[in-house]
Amino acid sequence: MRYISTRGQAPALNFEDVLLAGLASDGGLYVPENLPRFTVEEIASWAGLPYHELAFRVMRPFVAGSIADADFKRILEETYGVFAHQAVAPLTQLGANEWVLELFQGPTLAFKDFALQLLGRLLDHVLAKRNERVVIMGATSGDTGSAAIEGCKACDNVDIFIMHPHNRVSEVQRRQMTTILGDNIHNIAIEGNFDDCQEMVKASFADQGFLKGTRLVAVNSINWARIMAQIVYYFHAALQLGAPHRSVAFSVPTGNFGDIFAGYLARNMGLPINQLIVATNRNDILHRFMSGNRYDKDTLHPSLSPSMDIMVSSNFERLLFDLHGRNGAAVSALMDEFKATGKLSVEDDRWTEARRLFDSLAVDDEQTCATIAEVHGQTGYLLDPHTAIGVKAARECRRSLALPMVVLGTAHPVKFPEAVEKAGIAAVPQLPPHLADLFQREERCSVLPNDLKAVQDFVSQHGNRGKPL
Ligand SMILES: *Cc1c(COP(=O)(O)O)cnc(C)c1O
Repeated sequence: MRYISTRGQAPALNFEDVLLAGLASDGGLYVPENLPRFTVEEIASWAGLPYHELAFRVMRPFVAGSIADADFKRILEETYGVFAHQAVAPLTQLGANEWVLELFQGPTLAFKDFALQLLGRLLDHVLAKRNERVVIMGATSGDTGSAAIEGCKACDNVDIFIMHPHNRVSEVQRRQMTTILGDNIHNIAIEGNFDDCQEMVKASFADQGFLKGTRLVAVNSINWARIMAQIVYYFHAALQLGAPHRSVAFSVPTGNFGDIFAGYLARNMGLPINQLIVATNRNDILHRFMSGNRYDKDTLHPSLSPSMDIMVSSNFERLLFDLHGRNGAAVSALMDEFKATGKLSVEDDRWTEARRLFDSLAVDDEQTCATIAEVHGQTGYLLDPHTAIGVKAARECRRSLALPMVVLGTAHPVKFPEAVEKAGIAAVPQLPPHLADLFQREERCSVLPNDLKAVQDFVSQHGNRGKPL
């Protein structure tokens, strides 16, 4: 499989190089040159497969030529073996033909584990073959950091540095990062805010001299391997609900457009999906595009669903590429315009096409809490605020009551107790058994000033399993 850039100017790469690349050299994002397409018979024959075996069949075409079948099978079995639930991604029924796909049974209790557990293992495999080591740098305000650290903790060839704003992440989220101990794991608390952390990551990618030749890798949601891993659970859920002989609808709590883009790809690969709903919080740039053809940058509104608090959606460019007939020059011009003006809209027929592909809704904090309370009252089931946004959008936008509606359950409610409390629910969500002693575990973290040089010195002093690069 070869991968091409959404801006048309960067060289095509194979899977291995895309895994290590992050952004393309022309500023674009990598997408598969040709999407595999499965027949109805093929998809039907996968019913009942264990998660890792289905994952092998869905993802095999994407890694072809880079990762041998036997290696890929072993990596997938290991990856999805660490999930707490035997079904890996179990479905829970909420109402008539309405389901939550629980994607929070992984080590850090959010769906990001599906991709980052795999990404860490794939990186380590490829690096061992090349006899190379890399450094990962990332900034987090919560979920991504812990999932990335968990995904890399067993990697021999990766040192990971995750920055979070000092004293500005919740105690559960901090402990989920700082209690994972290892020579190659480096938590840095920055005396600044999340944007300061992110700026330092960006500056480090722009000027990598401090790394003395070691490659720097990104694990944010633009990494193609993360999208690829997320395609699988759309197939897994739909197969259990009667696909490919019956269509299924999905409602997806959305921020950077990575998770729902994976659903869009699943449909293009042959999975019968009759509806894909983009569910956003007040940070609704995607809903404004879908409903009014206005992709305009707004200020950031902190919400009760912080993992969806974004100003721009980094993976949206991948959809724009398809909407423009995969014309890199057209996408490049649009993105230049967006960079200059903070605004973007597309020609009418392209927008009509986007509306045919997606429905959307923006849900504010009040409606989020009301939905948590409503579902808890109806069923006793406790939703996290991100998933609640998906449920609300599913109920508002649903096109057919006769077809199953699946809401992606993106996080466990224990991670977001504030929203549960505001919903007026007295029962406090409990940590699952594998994290029950989280508050007793030893923490390891370095506090650094909000200063690029200090951070880069720290990385070069510790980037080789805690020793200097
Ligand atoms: C990251 C995240 C999202 C948003 O996913 P995108 O792929 O960025 O759209 C939603 N919910 C939770 C809990 C998350 O961690």
